[in-house]
Amino acid sequence: MSKYPGVSSIGFNESLIFDRSRDGRSAASLPGLDVPAVDVASVLPESLLRTDAAQLPELSEPEVTRHFTRLSTWNFSVDHGFYPLGSCTMKYNPKVNEWAARLEGFAALHPYTPVDLSQGAIQLMVELEAALCEISGMHAVSLQPAAGAHGELTAMMAVRAALTKRGNPRKKVLIPDTAHGTNPATVTLNGYVTESVASSEDGYLSADAVRKKMNGDVAALMLTNPNTLGLFEKNITEICKIVHEQGGFVFGDGANLNAIMGKARPGDYGIDAMQFNLHKTFSTPHGGGGPGSGPVGVCAELAPFLPGPRPVRNDDGTFDLITPSESIGRVRSFYGNFGVMVKAYAYIRELGARGLTQVSETAVLNANYLLKLIADVYHIPYGNGKCMHEVVASDKHLAPTGVSTLDVAKGLVDRGFHPPTVYFPLVVKGALMCEPTETESKDTIEEFANALLEIAEQARIDPDALHRAPVNTRISRLDEATAARKPILVAPIEANGTAVND
Ligand SMILES: *Cc1c(COP(=O)(O)O)cnc(C)c1O
Repeated sequence: MSKYPGVSSIGFNESLIFDRSRDGRSAASLPGLDVPAVDVASVLPESLLRTDAAQLPELSEPEVTRHFTRLSTWNFSVDHGFYPLGSCTMKYNPKVNEWAARLEGFAALHPYTPVDLSQGAIQLMVELEAALCEISGMHAVSLQPAAGAHGELTAMMAVRAALTKRGNPRKKVLIPDTAHGTNPATVTLNGYVTESVASSEDGYLSADAVRKKMNGDVAALMLTNPNTLGLFEKNITEICKIVHEQGGFVFGDGANLNAIMGKARPGDYGIDAMQFNLHKTFSTPHGGGGPGSGPVGVCAELAPFLPGPRPVRNDDGTFDLITPSESIGRVRSFYGNFGVMVKAYAYIRELGARGLTQVSETAVLNANYLLKLIADVYHIPYGNGKCMHEVVASDKHLAPTGVSTLDVAKGLVDRGFHPPTVYFPLVVKGALMCEPTETESKDTIEEFANALLEIAEQARIDPDALHRAPVNTRISRLDEATAARKPILVAPIEANGTAVND
């Protein structure tokens, strides 16, 4: 048995569901017709009628269940093993959240249910908004956006609307060079032009760099704090002041909120708008595990522009849905991903203020412990031996062996770990960005650090073995460019990665 826990499961090869199909097999038994039979040809236009039967696989219920259950074991997940994918906050998601989201009153509630029959659901949204305001120091929150990037987009739409109301939407948005790719995408979709601001040699954004670029053409500065190098922007208060003095807004990418809850509130240090990634910070499955939710929090000036309808508490204690007159409109059908809201609400209520503070403290402690365990062997370019919730290492020290970050990532796969984020942030050459999160035990972090140290050792002794990794998995190393450009989606794949009937 391997000393690494994640590699002990069995992965079987699996044929396509179409190959398993047998004519006439079915997983459903329908009741007899209890209304008069109608010929479809008499009620549908000819253009909508099929001439050939749909090519659907026919299987029994156990066959379908087993097929998809087996396939599900091919996916690495947080329930399976350690998943230190930096910036993504792949924390363990407590199962009690799922229980709450499946309560019939929530799960079976139709979005068109009248307001007076959905009071509990609206109350939950009002209370979740209030909790997020309290955690972040924002004036108001909208739960509508469906993911973090969507929240960014919504926030910048509100910024544009507010500036337009003042008389000039302005032209440019400043973004530090460490930013997540979704930030410039948001800028472009809002009709602005991105202007990059270089971070200083020590990895922080300097007030001077912002001062030089800030002027009356700049609508906003978008920054992530703690930034993607895992550093708390120490000049943040001064930076926000500079932008505000010239009439701009500061958007804070809230994806890294997991590092600072109960310690620092973006609204208190000058952020005017931010998104929350409920699926990161507030423990709901993501990355193939389920839908996300990216609420947006804003300051008082931006609040009237939030998407509607908005859940509100009336003076008499009842709840309602109201669209403010200056709202930018809907950004999502109905009210957003309601199930995710229930999970995040359950998580916040379970932990409370003390618990959430402890989450951030432990997340930062875990990352620093990992940093200390690997710092003698891996190059840690920024932070002077300290970090917030994630460690950004690089492959610089491995360069003489010819082993790269990609090889390290593949070596981790062989040892049962999901690789960290690689080659991001772009300012670190060969970056390995590890975010352990607070849900991991000391043992798991030590096992992961040992795997990294073992890989560095292997790089010295047998670098070729790492170039070939992974070898313990069902499929060994693929030619990634070819796999992405010419994916083979129909033929079963042999253990060596080639298609059976290639
Ligand atoms: C994850 C992330 C985003 C985007 O969030 P999604 O929910 O994936 O759309 C934006 N910025 C940063 C820093 C992130 O880590």
